Amino acid sequence: MTQQTTADLQRLDRAHHLHPFTDFKALGEEGSRIITHAEGVYVHDSEGHRILDGMAGLWCVNLGYGREELVEAATRQMRELPFYNNFFKSTHPPAVKLAEKLSQLAPAHVNRVFFTGSGSEANDTALRMIRRYWALEGKPEKQIVISRENGYHGSTVAGLSLGGMAPMHAQGGPLVPGIEHVRQPYWFGEGREHTPEAFGRLCAQAIEDKILALGEENVAAFIAEPVQGAGGAIIPPESYWPAVKEVLARYDILLVADEVICGFGRLGEWFGSQHYGLKPDLMPIAKGLSSGYLPIGGVLVGDRVAETLIEEGGEFFHGFTYSGHPVCAAVALKNLELMEAEGIVEKVRDDLGPYLARRWAELGDHPVVGETRSLGLIGALELVADKAGGQRFDKTLGAGNLCRDICFDSGLVMRSVGDTMIISPPLVITRAQIDELVILARRALDETARRLGITTTK
Ligand code: PMP
Repeated sequence: MTQQTTADLQRLDRAHHLHPFTDFKALGEEGSRIITHAEGVYVHDSEGHRILDGMAGLWCVNLGYGREELVEAATRQMRELPFYNNFFKSTHPPAVKLAEKLSQLAPAHVNRVFFTGSGSEANDTALRMIRRYWALEGKPEKQIVISRENGYHGSTVAGLSLGGMAPMHAQGGPLVPGIEHVRQPYWFGEGREHTPEAFGRLCAQAIEDKILALGEENVAAFIAEPVQGAGGAIIPPESYWPAVKEVLARYDILLVADEVICGFGRLGEWFGSQHYGLKPDLMPIAKGLSSGYLPIGGVLVGDRVAETLIEEGGEFFHGFTYSGHPVCAAVALKNLELMEAEGIVEKVRDDLGPYLARRWAELGDHPVVGETRSLGLIGALELVADKAGGQRFDKTLGAGNLCRDICFDSGLVMRSVGDTMIISPPLVITRAQIDELVILARRALDETARRLGITTTK
């Protein structure tokens, strides 16, 4: 094969490739950055740059790049059995073993999994299971799912309907009916006139108000990410989840904890729900399940729902060709075994998470930073024009995207959500690499400030 230059690949990309979540026209004018290879926490582009991947791909490459054990697990399974389905009373060893491993790792009341190909499909599956569950319980009118503004649950029609992303809803056409949104616990963005604690309780109260307005008899479930990822790495005030737990306990409503980002060590526990002491009925998972090496997701199903579906259910008319794909399952199993053997989750909880928290918080002294926050290995910085008053930049300046582009050009992937900068690095990052990440982030903040005309004293 002849070697294609960056320009060749960009031309072909422009001509034939429609990228996800992309302004096709704008990208066509600029051209894509072409990532060619990666190792550990670094990716390399076709122009020879090495970039510290502060986003673990797309919140997924938890074990880092270049793990031969995962390559071998895939190769072995491809030779042995590259595909067979799990329909029609069939299965295969990788799906069964992965299901068992997930049941071991999940909270005690969670013992079953329904496999999917992605996080979006996991949330579609959760919605179908919830409604099926209540129908089987003889309460078919319990249909409505309460979700949150600015939550993210995927890009399929059910996923985007469950999510609360206003721009997606605006393009989505008629959404799946029976989904209601309540305010998010985003203190810096929406609650600064209150203390964080008071604001957390207000947001939990909004759920109760919604339940009462809709009627408990019509509400099937509440769905939320333990920490909102795509919405901007939003770590709720400490008061939020305990108050939500109280609200949900007062009414007979299922809890769906979307663990697609928070699962598999991101918050320093196997599942984000465990950090917050939640007891979810359903837990959609994906991403870190295979460290992103192959696409696989699923819904972990608590005993309450599983027992009804099994005992009362008859056939559940739902599933995907790639539900529990053998090669994806073999890689996911190996990924979980490696995480266990290397004590990755404990390391995030006891060492790397606290270390990142300390180093990341140092960026709080920067003139364009209004808030820093982190939990485990997820973190965010809020960009502000006026530090004393906490005033945001004018939206038209695109400060977040500017900072993101500066980061990329100077060797760090940090993502922007509006003017919130977020990180979610591989869980195998070292302390020295966290230091490097913080140095690169500070330099990018300096340059962002300079271009936006904010003085930094140095
Ligand atoms: N839920 C959450 C919390 C997510 O962050 C994502 C993806 N970013 C999804 C669901 C959808 O997953 P996928 O892109 O694999 O469909």
